[in-house]
Amino acid sequence: MGQSIRDSIVNIKKELPSNVNLVAVSKFHPVEKIQEAYDAGHRIFGESRPQEFEAKVKELPSDIEWHFIGHLQRNKVKMVLPYAHLVESVDSVRILNRINSWAEDNDKIINVLLEVHVADEKTKFGFSRAEVMDIFDNHLDEYKNVNFCGLMAMATNTDDENHIREEFAAVRDFHKEISEKHPELCNFKELSIGMSGDYKIAIDYSSTLVRIGTKIFGVREY
Ligand SMILES: *Cc1c(COP(=O)(O)O)cnc(C)c1O
Repeated sequence: MGQSIRDSIVNIKKELPSNVNLVAVSKFHPVEKIQEAYDAGHRIFGESRPQEFEAKVKELPSDIEWHFIGHLQRNKVKMVLPYAHLVESVDSVRILNRINSWAEDNDKIINVLLEVHVADEKTKFGFSRAEVMDIFDNHLDEYKNVNFCGLMAMATNTDDENHIREEFAAVRDFHKEISEKHPELCNFKELSIGMSGDYKIAIDYSSTLVRIGTKIFGVREY
């Protein structure tokens, strides 16, 4: 028997250091469950599909801080960018360019994390480290309407804890390398690593945002 959404949130938050924020990943779960988490005092939620994201934003209280965490296609940005406090999953130059031009047209600054690919799985989206560094070394002035807030990454889905540690350490070190090389990125503070299965490990590697779905809302039915 599972614990309630409220209990799960309270218990997870007890485990998190004060500098680590919980993103409750509510994708595939109905608004009633999100409302339950909201009523327990939680305010930061993550969604991964544009249509579902937009529909939920419109149904739920306006003081929720919505994070977009899924793959975003260029023709879907208008469903996401007007409402997202943070787009955590910017995974290509093409979408980054589109976000910047949408933001320019709409007179906005969009907060983003660049998603870095470190896991073994070929299917996971994300930039290579070289691609990220190229953006910051050579193209930063092209993104006047983007606020680079940090990095997001997913570790390999494995029981091999040492392997997960290696991947998280690599992302943490890369985040540090960028911050040191580019002090002009004054908001580059966030490191979004850690999910239901590995967030306790991620805390050891300077995570500032853990994205937790299953452990709060239960198993998703796709
Ligand atoms: C679904 C998802 C999560 C949450 O995964 P859980 O294992 O259910 O905690 C975190 N991050 C991203 C990018 C996701 O798509």
